Amino acid sequence: MTTERTFSIIKPDATRRNLTGAVTKMLEEAGLRVVASKRIHMTREQAEGFYGVHKERPFFADLVGFMISGPVVVQVLEGEDAVAANRKVMGATNPANAEPGTIRKELAESIEANSVHGSDSAENAAIEIAFFFQPEEIVG
Ligand code: UDP
Repeated sequence: MTTERTFSIIKPDATRRNLTGAVTKMLEEAGLRVVASKRIHMTREQAEGFYGVHKERPFFADLVGFMISGPVVVQVLEGEDAVAANRKVMGATNPANAEPGTIRKELAESIEANSVHGSDSAENAAIEIAFFFQPEEIVG
């Protein structure tokens, strides 16, 4: 077990339904500590850059449109095995396939509007954290 950091986004479907607190509570109950947080409205350029890995996928244009459809809350989470712990509490990409008790099963609307993003590796977490946060904005 190692203490590590991961990157999370509370997506526009969740901020629109005023679920920032509900999502954060589930993250905290999973052992994750919010060490940086800010509410932003992503630009199209930010969303396209952030999801650049998916740019050839059929859902890319819709996904970018969704991510800029309202405010999001970007967060840095810290904890034991934070990447895995966050992926576990998020649940499967498609909420229909997510385990009971996960954020996506309990709160998400659809495979696209699935309430949260979470880094899929420590390497990507470092890249994604640096995309949105300056080092001094993270207070552990
Ligand atoms: N997504 C989508 N349609 C799909 C697959 C993914 O709209 O068929 C969206 C969804 O919001 C997902 C994001 O694209 O969270 C990134 O997809 P990824 O496969 O990386 O899933 P995640 O790591 O978020 O579970």
